Formats: sequence, structure tokens, C-alpha cells
Amino acid sequence: MAPADPTEQGGGTSTLDRELEELLSREQVDDGDHDRFAHYVRKEKIVESAVTGKPVIALCGKVWVPGRDPSKFPVCPTCKEIYESLAD
Ligand SMILES: [Zn+2]
Repeated sequence: MAPADPTEQGGGTSTLDRELEELLSREQVDDGDHDRFAHYVRKEKIVESAVTGKPVIALCGKVWVPGRDPSKFPVCPTCKEIYESLAD
């Protein structure tokens, strides 16, 4: 079975680790308390978001506008699992 591949827009999995950056979810929504994790997002999307202000999509499907705070949150277990499966 083939897992969803967020890299299919360009580049290969071999460069995945350099294209991902751990970010802190700072989403301020009513139901956000359960989601205080650092998610993995493609670095190019983070750069784009910084310019456009548009939200990014993490490996786990989480969508939010990334902030600049240092990450003091645990890595999202879903992102970590997907990331490791892709890097393998
Ligand atoms: Zn995540």
C-alpha cells in the first residue's frame, strides 16, 4: 500500500529532511487546545507563508499559519510517524 506522498509536487524523498522544518502550531481557534504540537511542513511552504500570510499544510494534514516562536512543544506524533515512514 502506498502512503500519501506530500513530496510529489517536486523533489524526491531523499531531500525530504532538508525541506521540512519543525514548526510550532500557534493556531488560535476554539478547539486548538488539543493540538499544541510542532508539526512538520515543507520548508518552501513556510517561506511562502511568510511572504503571503497563507496557511501551510503539515504532513499530518494540519493547516495553520506558522508563527516565529521557538518550538517548546512536542513533535506532532502523526507528523513524526509520516516523516519517518517517508525518510525510511
Ligand atoms: Zn502534525
